[in-house]
Amino acid sequence: MVNRNALITGGNRGIGRVCALRLAAAGARVIVAARNIEKCEAVAAEIRATGKEALAIAVDMSSKQSIQAAFSQAAKDFGPISILVNNAGITKDGLALRMKEDDWNSVLQTNLSGSFFAMQAVMQGMMKERWGRMINIVSVVGEMGNAGQANYVASKAGLIGLTKSLARELASRNITVNAVAPGFIETDMTAVLTDEQKAAMKAIIPLARFGQSEDIAAAVEFLAGDNASYITGHVLDVNGGMYM
Ligand code: NAP
Repeated sequence: MVNRNALITGGNRGIGRVCALRLAAAGARVIVAARNIEKCEAVAAEIRATGKEALAIAVDMSSKQSIQAAFSQAAKDFGPISILVNNAGITKDGLALRMKEDDWNSVLQTNLSGSFFAMQAVMQGMMKERWGRMINIVSVVGEMGNAGQANYVASKAGLIGLTKSLARELASRNITVNAVAPGFIETDMTAVLTDEQKAAMKAIIPLARFGQSEDIAAAVEFLAGDNASYITGHVLDVNGGMYM
């Protein structure tokens, strides 16, 4: 992936930040994209401090217009995007019986529609180059379901289906489309869970520990690299054995 441009949505913290640092270390020129531009700038600066190139860009993944504007700006400033990591994601948990329409829509819009519009924004450039890697960060619960997360689970299960469909559509152009499905990873997203919820989670993880962002970034780096050129439409579980 040396000198290829990689855009990571939600690259300013958590799993996305570690993916950005890791792809940069592997030789990619990295674009860090999220809503909080100061935090994107901080990650870009962290990458530049290692002697690599990086760009920060503001994007709201819940808005098609924002995605189109940000991606065309990134391509203008940095050149065509060859590696897309759709990592930005949100949760708005609640039981289905009481779930607000806004909470349903915003999670679907950010996690699923946003990922689709991002893939749409980069596919033409990748087709022209006849090389591309799309990596969607889904979730173990998108495979197994989870009470209290109907919106989030639907978004991630939808993203798995989208991954497989685009893998088939784009394979002839040498573009691979894969997903990484994290289990429980220690980030801001999971820091809000109660000790009781965390203990219940740990009890169903055969490796008996929570994952780190590095575990996910390693899988992303593998799928973005040359060693994964014959893998497409795959969902790579990184979950400590929580779901097999
Ligand atoms: P996190 O710490 O909460 O970070 C979320 C990232 O997404 C931030 O960079 C955030 O930046 C960005 N983001 C959120 N809404 C956005 C929007 N509308 N537009 C652009 N960027 C947006 O989450 P994480 O734990 O690192 O999770 C990263 C991905 O892994 C998510 O897709 C999540 O569903 C998935 N995942 C995580 C776990 C886990 O256990 N942590 C498990 C399974 C799957 P801004 O707020 O600045 O926009």
